[in-house]
Amino acid sequence: MISGYRGPTFKPAALALSLLLLAVGCGHKKGETYVLECKIGEDQGKTLRGNWALKPVPMAFREGEWSGDEQAAIIRAAQSWNRFFQASVKSDIFDFGSPQEPRTTTATLAAQVCATTMLGTSSYIGSVVISKLTTGWNNNADVLAVTEFCPENTGGKFPTFKNTQMKFNFQTFFGAGLRQPDLESLALHELGHVLGLDHSCSGQNQQGFPLCTDPGIDQEYLAAALYPNVDFAGANAIPKRGLGKNDQGRSNCLYK
Ligand SMILES: [Zn+2]
Repeated sequence: MISGYRGPTFKPAALALSLLLLAVGCGHKKGETYVLECKIGEDQGKTLRGNWALKPVPMAFREGEWSGDEQAAIIRAAQSWNRFFQASVKSDIFDFGSPQEPRTTTATLAAQVCATTMLGTSSYIGSVVISKLTTGWNNNADVLAVTEFCPENTGGKFPTFKNTQMKFNFQTFFGAGLRQPDLESLALHELGHVLGLDHSCSGQNQQGFPLCTDPGIDQEYLAAALYPNVDFAGANAIPKRGLGKNDQGRSNCLYK
């Protein structure tokens, strides 16, 4: 998906959420109670990509790009993850600074996300940059957002992330006359990638991933925020703003 530095111990990776065809109207209800233990489907063995060594992970909006409403939608998505993490591991997982004044950064997107690190010795020395691209979108036009990350094998159970950046496609979505994804739902999904979760299923037959189009697919995979499609009704996406049980169970495997 992206090109970048490939070293012997880590490689850049990117996960993208792409566009789904048409509305299917499958509203699912938010879990009332959280899943508090590691729970992952037997067929989801390859869907965990890495984790962060320290909690919470600092996040920053690229300065001058985002409106207050857009920032608020993304922060609501982060708070959904934080509420779950508070219940599960008694800590926030995302740190956006103060809700009134979210953290911003003048840092530009890295051409090679793996060339720099956010990991200091005992704290982070940078933030996950969240960028809104109205021009220069160099992924497929049907891709809504891309999260690029850099897992580094340090001998632990999972690779450790040393850097991550998020790009939202405001070039072929969101603008006047374009399809309107639900930004909060999209952010909830992308933030799951930041945490190291791959999709709950894959569009292609792939070992370690259930097939998204399998008619017998587990309903919890379908209901997950990390299910890899957004449903549109006309120009507007159907919101999916709550974490699914599968999102929660898999997160616990990475962070508990
Ligand atoms: Zn995705």
